[in-house]
Amino acid sequence: MIKEALNVLNEYYGYKDFRKSQKSVIDSILCKKDTLAVMPTGGGKSICYQIPALLFDGITIVISPLISLMKDQVDNIKDLGISAEYINSSLSSNKIQEITEKLNEDKIKLLYLAPERLEASEFCEFMKKLNISQIAVDEAHCVSQWGHDFRTSYRYIGSFIGSLPKRPVVSAFTATATEEVRKDIVKLIELNEPEVFISGFDRENLKINVLKIPNRLKYVLNYISENKDQSGIIYVSTRKEADHIYENLIENNISAARYHAGLPDAERKQNQEDFVYDRINVMVATNAFGMGIDKSNVRFVIHYNMPKNIEGYYQEIGRAGRDGEKSECILLFSAQDIITQKYLIEVGTQNPERRINDYKKLQTMIDFVHHNGCLRKYILNYFGEETEYEDCENCSNCLSEGEPVDRTVEAQKVLSCIYRMKRDFGVNTIVDVLRGSAQKKILQYRFNELSTYGIMKNYSKKDLAEFINTLISHDFISLKEGEYPTVVFSEKSMDILKGEERVIFKESVKVQKITEDNELFGVLKALRKDIASNEGVPPYFIFPDNTLKEMSVRFPSNKEQIFDISGVGQVKYEKYGETFLEIINDYVTKNNIEVKWTDKSEVSLQEKATNNLRSSKVKTQDVTVNMIKEGKSIIEVAKEREITVSTVLGHIEKYINDENSEKVEFNLEGIFTEKEEKEIMEATAELGVDRLAPIKAKVSQKITYDAIRAVILKNYVLRDKL
Ligand code: ADP
Repeated sequence: MIKEALNVLNEYYGYKDFRKSQKSVIDSILCKKDTLAVMPTGGGKSICYQIPALLFDGITIVISPLISLMKDQVDNIKDLGISAEYINSSLSSNKIQEITEKLNEDKIKLLYLAPERLEASEFCEFMKKLNISQIAVDEAHCVSQWGHDFRTSYRYIGSFIGSLPKRPVVSAFTATATEEVRKDIVKLIELNEPEVFISGFDRENLKINVLKIPNRLKYVLNYISENKDQSGIIYVSTRKEADHIYENLIENNISAARYHAGLPDAERKQNQEDFVYDRINVMVATNAFGMGIDKSNVRFVIHYNMPKNIEGYYQEIGRAGRDGEKSECILLFSAQDIITQKYLIEVGTQNPERRINDYKKLQTMIDFVHHNGCLRKYILNYFGEETEYEDCENCSNCLSEGEPVDRTVEAQKVLSCIYRMKRDFGVNTIVDVLRGSAQKKILQYRFNELSTYGIMKNYSKKDLAEFINTLISHDFISLKEGEYPTVVFSEKSMDILKGEERVIFKESVKVQKITEDNELFGVLKALRKDIASNEGVPPYFIFPDNTLKEMSVRFPSNKEQIFDISGVGQVKYEKYGETFLEIINDYVTKNNIEVKWTDKSEVSLQEKATNNLRSSKVKTQDVTVNMIKEGKSIIEVAKEREITVSTVLGHIEKYINDENSEKVEFNLEGIFTEKEEKEIMEATAELGVDRLAPIKAKVSQKITYDAIRAVILKNYVLRDKL
């Protein structure tokens, strides 16, 4: 069976092979077993139900929540030569009539439906007469109210399937499902002893960055101007913020549009289309935007604000790099985001259970932005996936980019001012005192008599407020919520004041190009845009970026060779193959390029060789341990490598766990005091060492996670292993 599936993949889609996760899902559906597939966004879910649809007799019904995008989805597969239609409220009754006739004649392979259709009994009666071979439920998490996009009408799917005279095989797909949601899907869609496949959630081509930097807007403007020709999305948490950033982009001549619930429908639709059709590069949007956007060449997703949960965040960043090309995800965190999200939860739901759930999810998001270890690992673990690595080498924590700048002295000035002000005030009042403002309120409280009054005059109001906010986002001080949020000391504040902890920011995070594109790629992109606008379709419908990229480095010169390029199928070749070949051949001749055609198999051999090379490169933990062998303390290594103490400790653990490691003396000096060690050991005797959080809760507040980790390393791991 899978061989026939492979032929269909080749012929229609032009792809040479299934992705690992697709194979087992398709196989299960082809064996007529109900199937639940959890795959990351961009993982290639659609093919998993489309290929069985093509191989089965009869019709596959696809239930999809995205009315506005159904047309695009269906046009896209029609473009591959597959007979598909959709029915939703946007169609005229004549058109619906036309489709029902085609359905009666068994001329349609895939029918896309909005779930609301299943609430209409007349329509369901009609459906019962059809030869339905498969029901595919897309975005299946919408059935669960624990998911983040609950849709009431998804609850009708189960009973609809039950009412059919002959039960078809049912497949359900989602990108984000925690165990709770997964159980709900199985129960509420009434899957029959389903095969459940949870594929690796890792999207290796996405670089994940969390940045806590002052002046986010300036960063965004720099970033976009460095990556002018690339397509990207900027997510914000409120409409107001979307308008604000959009206006700034326009003022800076950046090709941008916006999308949020406050805009008229027509404008939203137009903006979305402009983005999908590559008429504009950047979309500034609230989370109302993006579900089901299949645009495959989104090169960056910036979160200007922290989103409300990991599920939403991972789904949103998943919209980058669907074509598998290198792409970037950047979360710009500011402590104010927490307050905004809490406010949105408060006004967002009356249901107390949901509210508690929302707060729980928000907390995991906050923990994520403060996480010191590998960010990718954090997300994957959240979704229940174990990772083999400690460091992914493709997130901002693992790569540890940016220039570290020591801001301890400035931080001490701020802290001692807060300390002296005695009562809790907001950021603006603290700024006023530090800048020596003569405002009534300041004088009333006699803040002008404090020794810290006016000691940061040289800062502008805005810069100083941003500096304080950056201190908050690193948890060097905290924000206490209330009607007016106030600044209070955190666990770290006293240590900084006493000079026991340093404040080091990665300030000038260098903005870099995401990818270097070659000239022919640009030429092919322009050709694609011309064809797309003639045909009135989005450019990625013609060929995705990775197909053009492959053409631009392999220079296919005839039919046989262009078929070897991933993404060139039968219909696509007939429509565009010759045009692209002509342009490529032209380019090759004009530039005197000597082409030596290499077969796909040879290319993958080369890739393998490069991968081997890559994996034989020096392991990061070895670099750390080598420095320790030179006699450096852990704190020194952390400083020199510009990584956190926690990461160094992680490297050491990994090194020790490697069977071949030799004995090394680790100098844990300075991470904990003798007294702290005693206290931590007492706690571990009672609580064990598997989980750090309960230990942290038990010991004095002042004891850091680093200290706990180091004590465990010394007394348990090192003693046991070496
Ligand atoms: P999802 O619905 O899981 O987010 P899609 O089905 O839209 O993902 O697929 C994402 C991208 O990957 C699309 O551009 C699709 O054409 C491409 N793709 C899917 N399967 C394969 C494959 N086997 N080989 C190459 N590209 C694939």
